[in-house]
Amino acid sequence: MAKATPSHTHTVSGWAAHDSSGKITPYTFKRRENGVDDVTIRILYCGICHTDLHYVKNDWGITMYPVVPGHEIIGVITKVGSNVKGFKEGDRAGVGCLAATCLDCEYCRSDQENYCQQLQFTYNGIFWDGSVTYGGYSTMIVADHRYVVHVPENLRMEGAAPLLCAGITVFSPMKDHGLVESGGKRIGVVGLGGLGHVAVKFGKAFGHHVTVISRSAGKEWEAKNRLGADEFLVSSDQEQMEAGKRTLDFVLDTVSGEHSLLPILELLKVNGTLFIVGAPNEPLQLPAFPLIFGKRTVKGGIIGGIRETQEMLDLCGKHDITCDVELIRPHQINQALDRLASNNVRYRFVIDIASASSSPL
Ligand code: NAP
Ligand code: ZN
Repeated sequence: MAKATPSHTHTVSGWAAHDSSGKITPYTFKRRENGVDDVTIRILYCGICHTDLHYVKNDWGITMYPVVPGHEIIGVITKVGSNVKGFKEGDRAGVGCLAATCLDCEYCRSDQENYCQQLQFTYNGIFWDGSVTYGGYSTMIVADHRYVVHVPENLRMEGAAPLLCAGITVFSPMKDHGLVESGGKRIGVVGLGGLGHVAVKFGKAFGHHVTVISRSAGKEWEAKNRLGADEFLVSSDQEQMEAGKRTLDFVLDTVSGEHSLLPILELLKVNGTLFIVGAPNEPLQLPAFPLIFGKRTVKGGIIGGIRETQEMLDLCGKHDITCDVELIRPHQINQALDRLASNNVRYRFVIDIASASSSPL
């Protein structure tokens, strides 16, 4: 662990995993003093992304313990640095996955800083001053304002928190493929979890025909009646998958574990695109035949840029889109992570951070 520099004067209460058992316990640590470019945020809510689970369990072999997860952060600004424009004390603010980038490469200069090679994440990253970054399972955060966004006043804060990662991760590929507010396409969403359920909501708000592809038949009623999906295919049902062949223009794959791409690729029309955002531990096998016979494209992407994140939040404000969340208290984080691991969440856990002061840790 990098040593905190002398300017790390804030003592912060948070929750961390200390080894690959992934068990979360209360953890006190230091954050930097608010710098000229920083804002300080009192955290009110933080979503639990499946990426948090990958990190606490060291699924990807890159975790630096102790890790304080959390990159779906919403709160209120309590301090603003002298260089900061556009934010003031009392503003509702959001922080997603980005803590620092080089600010100078072609991607940083074109609002795609999420593809900067020097990108450092909100947790398990190394900030410019050499300190390890700690995420939103904590009571406050100091963030460079260039990675902070405004949260529209009409959105419920707890429902908006997951938009900071789940939301932008599915929005960015939709935008790239001309699917934002354009209507009329047939899109598929594989995996109806945190990311997937937002993708369904976006797809419907933007006027598309949305098909959910899921291994959980029990999610069909909700997918259609609560989230508005038009069709639901159970991925293990060969008849349904057969009937769905060549029906979709674009498919977003949000699956967190190993799965076969072949039947998913076959759902695409000729020239269709499979966009992968899920991050399984093991490499996925890419069969050549469905690419060759369908001139199909497979690509992937990581979250989205900050400008795009603001655009997404503003559109959510316009369409009144928030996530379906289950609110928990900090002492329930371990239980929530266990339920997330066993695919038992509708559709995102969000930690009510402010309740920490009134509940036992
Ligand atoms: P989640 O809430 O757990 O949802 C994932 C869904 O995928 C599950 O609800 C389940 O849906 C399906 N699924 C899980 N394991 C499966 C398996 N082995 N085979 C088939 N289906 C499976 O997770 P999430 O928070 O949405 O995150 C999903 C993935 O995206 C994670 O790997 C996460 O790390 C990654 N992620 C990537 C980015 C990025 O920038 N690219 C950003 C955020 C998250 P059904 O029950 O409907 O099948
Ligand atoms: Zn995430």
